Amino acid sequence: LEEAVRHADRLSTLGTLAAGLAHEIKNPLGGIKGAAQLLELELPADSELRDNVRVMIREVERVNRIVEELLGLASPRRLQLTKVNLHKVLGDIITLQKRSAQGKNITFQQQFDPSIPPILADEGLLTQLFLNLVKNAEEAVDEGGMIKIVSRVISDYSMTQKGERRSRMVAVEVSDNGPGIGKEQLEHLFTPFFTTKATGTGLGLAICQKIVSEHRGMIKVESPPGKGTTFTVMVPLIQ
Ligand code: ADP
Ligand code: MG
Repeated sequence: LEEAVRHADRLSTLGTLAAGLAHEIKNPLGGIKGAAQLLELELPADSELRDNVRVMIREVERVNRIVEELLGLASPRRLQLTKVNLHKVLGDIITLQKRSAQGKNITFQQQFDPSIPPILADEGLLTQLFLNLVKNAEEAVDEGGMIKIVSRVISDYSMTQKGERRSRMVAVEVSDNGPGIGKEQLEHLFTPFFTTKATGTGLGLAICQKIVSEHRGMIKVESPPGKGTTFTVMVPLIQ
């Protein structure tokens, strides 16, 4: 519980900071990027200086991404609830990512439970949630990797305070056959800024967790050695 409180505390501190600073940071960043792009055009294509300017542009874009993601994590918002066709959201993500799968030859599989009705949710946030998970899977797998998305209806056996059983839930699993996640890392995954990637922000999973809890759901990760990684999102089946 203490850890959970610290976590929430850290998020809300970050939130206050981010909301106040994001726009102030993004404007000058835009100026730096524009100037660097002009500079790039002035330099001969094969010069070392031009490579340096490209690094500047790339890193400015990175800071921009961090600021944007922090803002997503920070901004208090009201969910835009509508009836969402979950399988359309997931199918669209697969279609999109098939095209842009970073030049890697990745196979996508889907196994959807056709009995799942439209669920009451925020479509934009759900898209962001599953896109983050699929992107992580893509980044984890090698050439010839596999990503599988499975949906099913599950019973939530946890009891409410009155001792009644809660309603059914929808579970969506995003699995990959990548290298998996070490035991020491598993507990840090959802901490803002935890990343093992050279160009990562470490905010993707923190955002996922926020979106899931805004939908009164749960997210968990399993990564048995040598068996890849599975993230499971569970949200109440509210129609
Ligand atoms: P980022 O992708 O920017 O690093 P995330 O919050 O999305 O930040 O992920 C945090 C870390 O969790 C990643 O750096 C990686 O170490 C680990 N991770 C997430 N998804 C996977 C996955 N499918 N396979 C292996 N490691 C993963
Ligand atoms: Mg990520």
